[in-house]
Parts: sequence; structure tokens; C-alpha cells
Amino acid sequence: MVTEKARKIILVLGDQLSADLAALRAADKARDVVLMVEWPAPAIRVNRHKQKIVLVLSAMRHFADALREGGWTVDYSELGGSSSLQGAIKDSVARHDAEAVCVTEPGNWHLRQAIRAWDIGAPVTVLEDDRFLCTHAEFEAWAEGRKELRMEYFYRDMRRRTGLLMDDGDPVGGQWNFDKENRKPPDTARRYPPPYSVSPDRTTAQVIELVEAEFPDNFGALDGFDWAVTATQAEAALDDFITHALPDFGTYQDAMVGGENYLFHSRLSAYLNMGLLEPLAVCRRVEAAFQSGHAPLNAVEGFIRQIIGWREFVRGVYWLKMPDYLCSNALGHGRPLPDFYWTGETDMACLKSVISQTISAAYAHHIQRLMVTGTFAMLAGVDPHEVHEWYLGVYADAFDWVEVPNTLGMSQFADGGVLASKPYAASGNYINKMSNYCKTCRYDVKQKTGPDACPFNALYWDFLDRHRDTLSDNMRLRMPYRTWDRMAPDQQEDIRRSASAFLERL
Ligand SMILES: Cc1cc2nc3c(=O)[nH]c(=O)nc-3n(C[C@H](O)[C@H](O)[C@H](O)COP(=O)(O)OP(=O)(O)OC[C@H]3O[C@@H](n4cnc5c(N)ncnc54)[C@H](O)[C@@H]3O)c2cc1C
Ligand code: SF4
Repeated sequence: MVTEKARKIILVLGDQLSADLAALRAADKARDVVLMVEWPAPAIRVNRHKQKIVLVLSAMRHFADALREGGWTVDYSELGGSSSLQGAIKDSVARHDAEAVCVTEPGNWHLRQAIRAWDIGAPVTVLEDDRFLCTHAEFEAWAEGRKELRMEYFYRDMRRRTGLLMDDGDPVGGQWNFDKENRKPPDTARRYPPPYSVSPDRTTAQVIELVEAEFPDNFGALDGFDWAVTATQAEAALDDFITHALPDFGTYQDAMVGGENYLFHSRLSAYLNMGLLEPLAVCRRVEAAFQSGHAPLNAVEGFIRQIIGWREFVRGVYWLKMPDYLCSNALGHGRPLPDFYWTGETDMACLKSVISQTISAAYAHHIQRLMVTGTFAMLAGVDPHEVHEWYLGVYADAFDWVEVPNTLGMSQFADGGVLASKPYAASGNYINKMSNYCKTCRYDVKQKTGPDACPFNALYWDFLDRHRDTLSDNMRLRMPYRTWDRMAPDQQEDIRRSASAFLERL
């Protein structure tokens, strides 16, 4: 029997770098030992971006230092120090003569399952991760009996629950959502604030060297690594975003510009997901910027919706639908992911630009992920599992609970509409309207078919045609199906031929 006074091993994972973590709150600094384990080297697959590896390892090392300074005993296993997480915990239990292990729930369904089966010589307690605002039980209760799960209704409940942007029970400004104001194309005269940038300190520099030596062939570039690796630096990044970018965040949220990675986006997702920032505190800071008159409501509401709405919603869907969710493939897609997703070597300027910035910065903003790399993969019929593996590997902020539903649900419609009410399919026209990519492209966005036509155009109609049985009943697709049906048969045939010629070359 484990007594109250028995020593515990407190396992802190790489995305649990929060001083206020549930497992740390439940521990006794004078008695318990914090265990942190860097990935066993073989677990790092070549598709994992080098910057992601450096970011997580450096942030873990800094966090361990901060815990030690705060009086904790930390047992830290560096890269290659153990061949498995389970093995590292078992050794630590024996080394410290511990009688129990405590961990905050991981954000990965498979690890959560594995913990139940761990044989480490001590019982394991898993605590709820209360850094999220909606518990599993609350999300299940919200989802119970609903025919459809729609983020917008969930979001309104979250606004009521948190009180964010609420005025006596009503939404501030008289509307829940100001998205209509948030779809402006880029303004070529605008200057974008430079991203908040942190020069690597000694610890980060050592990790950079280690990663270059251990994983030379991994995806992505390391030069220019400038991520925050401590909570203090992440707070400074938040300050910088609120001061310089938040006021225009809403208006240009969907805009894309070649060579501009961030525009007015926050680049805070990795810090939020790793625990360096706390979501509710971030939202309160952003709300205060509205209250003080610094930022307009469309920006502030739009930003808060991403965090208490989308972020919490996709997490709820992940835990509700796993493990089957991971195998979903409602459209029956099976094409391999094109090689250019790994190199950026394509003459489609939009994809070239987004993939190149992914290689150099481990970052792309939401519309780039959704409407460029995501839409193309879906229109081309790429196996959603390969698409998921790509997104999980290449972005600094990618963790299972958030990447899986965004990729399989929102971007690939592989879940058949659990997360999104329609597939995010679009012709080249959308990219042309929302970006400057088409101006430098070798393809002509105005042409529908033929070798010089923008490939998105024929692929879009061909996609709708191919999936007519599954999609034509969707109310939100009635218009495009009507347009397709009005086209002359030889025009339709031309489109089919163009799409299939392109896909063959792919
Ligand atoms: C195919 C695909 C894969 C994605 N994979 C991830 C992922 O692995 N990790 C991840 O954090 N986000 C993911 N997203 C969501 C979104 O693209 C990123 O959160 C956002 O681009 C991060 O950049 P930012 O911090 O500058 O965000 P901003 O545009 O500044 O938004 C503010 C914050 O809102 C949150 N947010 C916004 N949209 C979403 C969303 N759809 N889901 C969850 N949180 C959201 C993020 O925490 C973000 O930091 C994915 C989206 C798509 C379409
Ligand atoms: S023309 Fe088509 S392929 Fe080229 S940048 Fe525009 S949308 Fe992309």
C-alpha cells in the first residue's frame, strides 16, 4: 500500500513545462523527485523538424534548471540516456526508492493507454490536465445527444463559462463572432511587425549542436532558430504580439504574403502547447487590450475564439473520438504524399512558398496550413494518414491532440464532417484573392484547363465530381454542384482530363 508519506516520482513530459502543473501541485518538494526524460533517440523520426527537437529539448532543460532553482530534486535523463520512457521511469523508481509515480495526463491517446499497462514497480496516478479550460467530462456532456458538433456553439458556452468578452450575460458588441470583418486580403502597403526573436543562449546552442550531430538528415533548417525556450521569454513574446500585431490580427487573419511568415499572427501556439503560456491568462491579457482601447473588438474576439473556441474544441473532439479517429478516411483517399512536401521543389508558387517557410521556420499560419498545403493534399486525393504524419512532423507546435483533429478533420475531411461542416475545398481563385502567390506563379490562375492552368482549378471540380455520392447532399456545397451541373459535358470532360493529366505527372 502506498502511504501518504511515501516518496513519489513526478513525471513531467516535454509539453508539460508549467510551474503550476497538476502533478507538481500534488507533490511535496521536500520529499518527491521530478523526473524528466528527453526522447529516446530512436523515437525521433526523420520527419521531425530539427527546430521542433531543439525547441522541446532546450525548453525542457531550462525548465529543469528552474525547478532545481526552486528547490526541487530533478532526475533528468538526456537524449539517448534511456531506450524507452517506461524504462527510464522504472530505473528512476528504483534509484530513488519511490513507491508511486504521478503524472499529468499526456496529450497523446496512445501514451495515455500505454501508461495503464506500464510495469514499473510502482502504481501510477494520472491527474487531469487542468491547463485546459474544458474537461473531458464537460466536453462529453456538451457533445451528448447533439446531431452535429459545431465549434460556434461550443465557443459561446466557453465565453459564458469564462466570462471573456461578456457583458451582463450578453456578448460584448452584441455579436458572438466578428469573422466577417476578418477576411481582408493582404494590403501591399502594410508593413508587418518583425516576429519576436530570442537569440540562442548557451543551453540552446548546445542543443542545436547536439541535434545537428545526432539528426543531420532530419527535416528542416536550424539556422535562424529564434524560439523562446522559457516561460519568461514566452511572456515577452506575448507582450510583443499584443503591442505590435494584435490590433491588425483580425482584419488580416486569412491573408497570405510570399516571404512573410507571420503577418499579424501571434506565433504563440508552440508556447501554449508546451505549457510556457497559460491559455486563460493569455486571453485575459488580450481582453484587457480591448478594454484599454489598444485593440479593436474584431481582433480581440477573433483571437480569443481561436483559443477558448477552436483550441479547446479540437481537443474535445480528439479525446471523444480516438482511437478510431486516427484511421478515418471518409473520402477513401490513398495517393502517396508528393515528394515536394519535403523539399518545396514545385512550380506551384503557393505551395513552394508555404513549404519553404515550413522548412526554414517550422511555422505556417492557419490559412496556409488549411487552404494551401491542406487543400491541395485533399483535392489531389492524398492518403490522410500521410498528410497527418507530415503535419505532425514539420510544425513546431504539433502535438497529437491538436494536430490530429485539425489535419484529419478540418483540413482533409477524413472524419466525414465531425469537425467541419464541409470540406475546405477551393479553386485557385481563393488563393489568388487572399495572397500574392499567383503573381509569380508559372501557372495561370484564370485558366481552368490545359498545361498552363492553375492545378487547383481542375482539381477542385474533379474533386467535387469524384465525391458526388458523399458530398452532394451537403447544403453548403449545393451552389458549386449546381455550377458543375450547368457546365457543358465537353467542358466537364476537359476538366476531368486536365485533373487526371496533372495527377499522373504528380
Ligand atoms: C492542417 C492543420 C494542422 C494544424 N496543426 C496544428 C498543430 O499541430 N498545433 C497547433 O497548435 N495548431 C495547429 N493548427 C491550428 C493553427 O494552424 C495553429 O494553431 C496556428 O497556425 C498557430 O500559429 P499562431 O500561434 O501564430 O496562431 P494565431 O493565428 O496567432 O492564433 C492564436 C492561437 O489560437 C490557437 N489556434 C488557432 N487556430 C487553432 C486551431 N484550429 N486549433 C487549435 N488551436 C488554434 C493557437 O493556440 C494559436 O496560437 C493546425 C491547423 C491545420 C489546418
Ligand atoms: S496559380 Fe494556382 S498554383 Fe499558382 S500560386 Fe496561384 S493558386 Fe497556387
